[in-house]
Amino acid sequence: LNRRLAEFGTTIFAEMSALAQRTGSINLGQGFPDTDGPEAVREAAVRALRDGRGNQYPPGPGVPELRTAIAEHQQRFYGLAFDPDTEVLVTAGATEAIAASLLALLEPGDEVIALEPYYDSYAACIAMAGATRVPVTLRPSEGPRGGFVLDLDELRAAVTPRTRLILLNTPHNPTGTVLTRAELAAVAELACERDLLVITDEVYEHLVFDGAEHIPLASCPGMRERTVTIGSAGKTFSFTGWKVGWVTAAPELVAAVRSAKQFLTYVASGPFQYAVAEALRLPDSHFDGFRAEHQAKRDLLSAGLAAAGFEVFRPAGTYFVTTDIRPLGESDGFAFCRALPERAGVVAIPNAVFYDHREEGAPFVRFAFCKQTAVLEEAVTRLKALA
Ligand code: PMP
Ligand code: GLN
Repeated sequence: LNRRLAEFGTTIFAEMSALAQRTGSINLGQGFPDTDGPEAVREAAVRALRDGRGNQYPPGPGVPELRTAIAEHQQRFYGLAFDPDTEVLVTAGATEAIAASLLALLEPGDEVIALEPYYDSYAACIAMAGATRVPVTLRPSEGPRGGFVLDLDELRAAVTPRTRLILLNTPHNPTGTVLTRAELAAVAELACERDLLVITDEVYEHLVFDGAEHIPLASCPGMRERTVTIGSAGKTFSFTGWKVGWVTAAPELVAAVRSAKQFLTYVASGPFQYAVAEALRLPDSHFDGFRAEHQAKRDLLSAGLAAAGFEVFRPAGTYFVTTDIRPLGESDGFAFCRALPERAGVVAIPNAVFYDHREEGAPFVRFAFCKQTAVLEEAVTRLKALA
């Protein structure tokens, strides 16, 4: 393994899912739903397979049906207009979108500002691009908003002459933070002032709770031309195995990302692309139901974790809840998560893996609630035995 990748090892998700299997534990670690997405969408995939659509290499940028559906989705939910031919790119999940965007837009030695804790592939892809990550830490807020918040002064102070781009994520994995319009406007102002690009990972765009709104950074003043926005059918339609994601951005940016993407996978997920095109056109009721269902699950798991003695940071979005284990008399999330299958038959993720400043993340542990209600209830029952 080369020096750029040496520090990364095996992703925590693979490690923890293997641990769950080995111990027969309830897996609230890796974020994947235990119920597949809509039947009509699965049927659409079967039809595409049968009809021979996408069984051979589809067009590299993605099938026109899907690119059009992605553009329509951005228009319908956010009032953003993208040209399906020049401003939309289909990728092998958001993971490839992240990799291709970073590989295409960074020069070796560039600095990338990323919100810490950050999704693990960000660090690895920044490293593969030969660039340097500069984390800006989200911290538990003392204020009425609760949850983890971004310190805009720290963000501003992190910019140097070598900063090339900001890598944003809202709704944010693992904290569940949803950036507000004011925060996004401040990011936008900074990006414009310092002439930075922003890659914004918005895969949890349809999972925002309590009437909160997901605001795409691309809709903020000055950002339409300097933002690469990433979405995923894995998250939005509960098909994480299909690996269909997408990028929307200005033509020059999409062309750049496409240049990298064509040498990573060239193209992927042929028949699934047609099915996701249909999914994106589902009525609003689908998206509302998806959100309501997850809000109820968030409430169930959050209440259960609180009753089990965890401090719970109520997530405004995503399907993860971050907790602090110190009220349980614990302080090392790694040790806690490694022992949890034995102690309670549950698997969770130590947030420290998402930090450069490991000590900042040490007492935080993430639980996924994209699971059936009965599974969450059983997990809560087991976790209460910890107290
Ligand atoms: N970004 C974030 C913030 C994620 O949580 C995930 C996966 N769970 C991804 C990207 C990757 O998405 P995909 O499965 O579409 O590659
Ligand atoms: N994004 C998912 C999570 O945060 C996992 C994806 C993966 O396993 N790579 O749990």
